[in-house]
Amino acid sequence: SESGNTYYRVVMIGEHGVGKSTLANIFAGVHDSMDSDCDVLGEDTYERTLMVDGESATIMLLDMWENKSEEEWIQDHCMQVGDAYLIVYSITDQASFEKASELRIQLRRARQTEDIPIILVGNKSDLVRCREVSVSEGRACAVVFDCKFIETSAAVQHNVKELFEGIVRQVRLRRDSK
Ligand code: GDP
Ligand code: MG
Repeated sequence: SESGNTYYRVVMIGEHGVGKSTLANIFAGVHDSMDSDCDVLGEDTYERTLMVDGESATIMLLDMWENKSEEEWIQDHCMQVGDAYLIVYSITDQASFEKASELRIQLRRARQTEDIPIILVGNKSDLVRCREVSVSEGRACAVVFDCKFIETSAAVQHNVKELFEGIVRQVRLRRDSK
C-alpha cells in the first residue's frame, strides 16, 4: 500500500451483558494471545497494532456504549465516530439478537451515505446448551444486513483474534476498492 501503518477506530455496540467488555479485555491483552502490546487510553478505549496479512494496522477499540451517566450522548457519538463496527449479541439471548438488528438499522440511518464495515458477532459460543440463536439465523441476519458474521467465545478465546483481524480486512477491502 501507499503509506505504512493505518489507523482504524472500531466501535463495539450491543446489549448489556453480551460480552463486549470481555472481548475488549482480550483485545487489550489482559490474557495475551495476540502479538503486540496494548495501550489503555481510558477505561473504555484500547489501542493496539496488529499485523494482518503482512501489513500493520492500528485499532483504537471503543467500548463505551454503556456509559450509564451520559448514555444518550455517548450512543449518538458512537454512531458517528466509528470507521468500523462490531455489533455484538449473545447466542444465549434472543433479545440481544433482536437488539443487534435494531442497532444495524440505527447505524444505517446515522451514516446513510457511507458503506461502513460491520461484523455481526455472536458471542458466548461456548454455552452450547443455552443456545437460543442458531448459527444459520446469525448468518442469515448478516446477509440481510450486508455485513460479515462470526461466532466467538470470549470465555474460551475462540475466534477473538480472527474477529479483530476480520474487521481490519473489511476496512481494507473498502479502501482498496476506492
Ligand atoms: P458487556 O455488558 O457486553 O460488556 O458484557 P461483559 O463483557 O461484561 O460480559 C457479561 C458477562 O458474560 C460476564 O459475566 C462475562 O464473564 C460473561 N461472558 C462474556 N463473554 C462470554 C463468553 O464468550 N462465554 C461465556 N460463557 N461467558 C461470557
Ligand atoms: Mg461492558
